[in-house]
Amino acid sequence: MQDNNERLKALPKVDIILNDKRIEGLKGVPRLIIIETIRETLDLVRKNILAKDTNAVNYENIIEEILTTIANKSKMHFRRVINGTGTILHTNLGRAVLAKSAVEAVINVASSYSNLEFDIDKGIRGSRYSHVEELICKITGAEAALVVNNNAAAIMLALSTLSKGRAAIVSRGQLVEIGGSFRIPEVMELSGAKLYEVGTTNRTHLYDYENAICENTGVILRVHQSNYKILGFTEEVTIDKLVNLGNKMNIPVVEDIGSGMLLDISKYGLTYEPTVQNSIISGVHVVTFSGDKLLGGPQSGIIAGKKEYIAMMKKNQLTRALRIDKLTLAALEATLRLYLDEETAIKEIPGLNMLTRNISLIKSDAQRLMKNIKNSSKDKLEINIIKDFSQVGGGSMPLERIDTYALALKPLDIKAEELELKLRNSEVPIITRINKDQIIIDMRTLFPEDYKLIVNTLNQIL
Ligand SMILES: *Cc1c(COP(=O)(O)O)cnc(C)c1O
Repeated sequence: MQDNNERLKALPKVDIILNDKRIEGLKGVPRLIIIETIRETLDLVRKNILAKDTNAVNYENIIEEILTTIANKSKMHFRRVINGTGTILHTNLGRAVLAKSAVEAVINVASSYSNLEFDIDKGIRGSRYSHVEELICKITGAEAALVVNNNAAAIMLALSTLSKGRAAIVSRGQLVEIGGSFRIPEVMELSGAKLYEVGTTNRTHLYDYENAICENTGVILRVHQSNYKILGFTEEVTIDKLVNLGNKMNIPVVEDIGSGMLLDISKYGLTYEPTVQNSIISGVHVVTFSGDKLLGGPQSGIIAGKKEYIAMMKKNQLTRALRIDKLTLAALEATLRLYLDEETAIKEIPGLNMLTRNISLIKSDAQRLMKNIKNSSKDKLEINIIKDFSQVGGGSMPLERIDTYALALKPLDIKAEELELKLRNSEVPIITRINKDQIIIDMRTLFPEDYKLIVNTLNQIL
């Protein structure tokens, strides 16, 4: 047996490890990472020795530990995962997945120069907003449009432009928290608008707005109840009525409709979600929405409405701070183009495709994946197809429970918790949930190319 001093002395020196063939052979790993990892690993071994919970120093184990750590450090931290949760717009998992054409558009402008702010016809400086403004107008029927970083930025810009130092009238039933402790009232205050609350949590009437309007009113704000529902004894003033009131009193109405729904999904058996077109038809002065919720594009905030107000926003200095990046713009234009034909949009935009996917197709997918898993890991787990519910997520359609099929896996040799952890920590993390000692994988949010990875990963783990 070595004693502690002998063990410490037996630790290999950094130089010796650096000259080891396996470490020398690491191609493309920055030297900084290699040296840092060797030092960290040796420090850890030293600490273990001093804590007296170690065996004799084992050179091979140290090298192995260093190689594994370097492999982990070399992986991209921000990477692809497989979404087995059934939540289509999972904010923690990146919300909308882009359509193929949107991905191609990003690669195209990212890997070369582009006409981001260049007017090719005239050979002079152009506007970055020109690439999508016409499209947004064509699809929604709006007179003008502008895009910024996200919907929170869109609301802030609209209020800062139209209601700075003046009252923005809003119903108490609409003062919502969006998520990540981001709150509409706080966004409003930051914009410089003065919050003027009317009505009560469950009921707000047209006369509440009428009574609140005075000389210092900047805008009437309406916020869509996207991530919650007030049920029972309730009343909310429709956008049409608010717009009539705004027109009569010469006050612009700003509507935040949250998820930018551009087509009527009630046709597909889902609850009607207000469309942008519906707001524009009502004559709303300004409407704002997210690009990466049901719309299915990149993170962005879209502002559409009357030309005079959009023109004022374009001139606001805040627009520069909130401006949309060129990669986002490319993805957004390509996504919007798909909406020129509704069938194409449903087929090509992954979120819409998942949302409207026929239940019998989901069932046959489940059967196919179950068969493949059984073929490779049959004695290691019990596997069943169960009926379940998917969710829209991303703060959209909170009460919608969409029928789906899921695989329920019960590992025979390890605990479900251990399998969940290992799936989550695999090369391509597979995100699942546990229900009664079973791993649940919802079929709705999987892509066909995920199947092989799931089968192989399960086989490796078990
Ligand atoms: C999601 C949501 C927002 C925030 O949109 P982001 O694009 O995430 O900034 C604001 N308002 C409503 C009603 C929403 O649903």
